[in-house]
Amino acid sequence: MKKLLLLHTGGTLGMTGRRPDALKPGSFFRTVQERVPELTKLADLEFEVFSNLDSCEMQPELWSKLATRVAQRISKFDGVVITHGTDTLSETACALSFMLPGLNKPVVLTGAQRPLGEIRTDARLNLIDAVTSALHGPREVTVCFDSHLYRGNRVRKVSIAEYDAFDSPNHPVLGVLGVDAKFQRGLAGKGLRLMEQVDPRVFLLRIFPGLDPQIPLSILPHVRGLVVEAYGAGNFPSSDELGRSLTSVFERARQLDVPVVVVSQAPRNGVDLSLYESGNRARRSGAISGGDMTVSAAVVKLMHGLANHRGNALRKYLERSVAGERS
Ligand code: ASP
Repeated sequence: MKKLLLLHTGGTLGMTGRRPDALKPGSFFRTVQERVPELTKLADLEFEVFSNLDSCEMQPELWSKLATRVAQRISKFDGVVITHGTDTLSETACALSFMLPGLNKPVVLTGAQRPLGEIRTDARLNLIDAVTSALHGPREVTVCFDSHLYRGNRVRKVSIAEYDAFDSPNHPVLGVLGVDAKFQRGLAGKGLRLMEQVDPRVFLLRIFPGLDPQIPLSILPHVRGLVVEAYGAGNFPSSDELGRSLTSVFERARQLDVPVVVVSQAPRNGVDLSLYESGNRARRSGAISGGDMTVSAAVVKLMHGLANHRGNALRKYLERSVAGERS
C-alpha cells in the first residue's frame, strides 16, 4: 500500500460549529477517522498537524515553514495531501510550487466549503479525491476541489458558497475525478530542492478610474517589488489632463530599483505590453509583463524572486515559467 502524509493546516474543512456562528478550528483527525474511515483503505496515511489556522492567518513565513516540512518528510512517502482553508489556498499552492523546485511526487492541497462533520459537507469527497490524486495524479503541486485537479499555481478562488470554489482560467485541468479518475501527466521534476526564502515586502496595486498617482508614489519607497493589476492587456491611465497619469509610478519604480510586474484584471488570456500606448510606456520604464499569471501567482513569485535573485537574473526569473505558472 502506498504511503501518504496528510498535513493539516486548518480551514473550514477541519472546523466544528455551525454557521452563522464563527467557525473554530476543531479536532480534525478524530473527525476524519469518524467521517471518512475508508481513507485508510486507499493508502497508508500518516497524519500531522502543521497548524490549525483559518487561512486568512497564513503568512509568507508559514509558507516557508510548510515547504520546509514537506521537503523534510516527503522522501518517506509517495505523496503529500495538505488540508488548507480556501481563502488563501491559491497563495500557499503558489508558494509551495516555487519553493519546491524539482518536485517529483504529488503534493495535493484541498479544503472544503463546509466542515467535515456537517451533513452535505464537500470535505468528504474532496479528501477522498485529494488522496486519490496524491496516489495517481501528476507529480507536482496541485489543488483538488469539487472533482477537479488543478495546477496549484494556476488557481483562484471564485466562489464563497458554491462547491466549485476554484477555477484555473488559463490552464486546462490536470485531472477530472468523475466516475473514473483521469489525470494528465503534468510536470515532474528531476529532484527536489528547497528554496524556502521569501521577501514579503511587495505591494499589489489594482488600477481603477480616479486613482490618485500620489498614493502609489508614496508607497514605492516602502516596498521592494510592485505588482500592478492593470486593465485588459496591461493598460492604465497615461493622459496628464486630469493629473491622473500613472506613468510616473513606473518611472519612479525604475529609479528606486523596484521591479514592477504587470498582470491583468481580466482573468482569461494574458498581458501584452506592446499592444497599447500605456503598456508600451510601462515597458519602456522597465515593467515586466506577467503574461497570463494569476494575480496570486505574480505576487507570490515576486516575493520568492526578490529573496533569491537580483537584477537581470530576477527579471529573467519573473519572465519565464518556473513551475508552469505562466504559458
Ligand atoms: N476562512 C476559511 C479559511 O480560509 C474559509 C475556508 O476554509 O473555506 O480558512
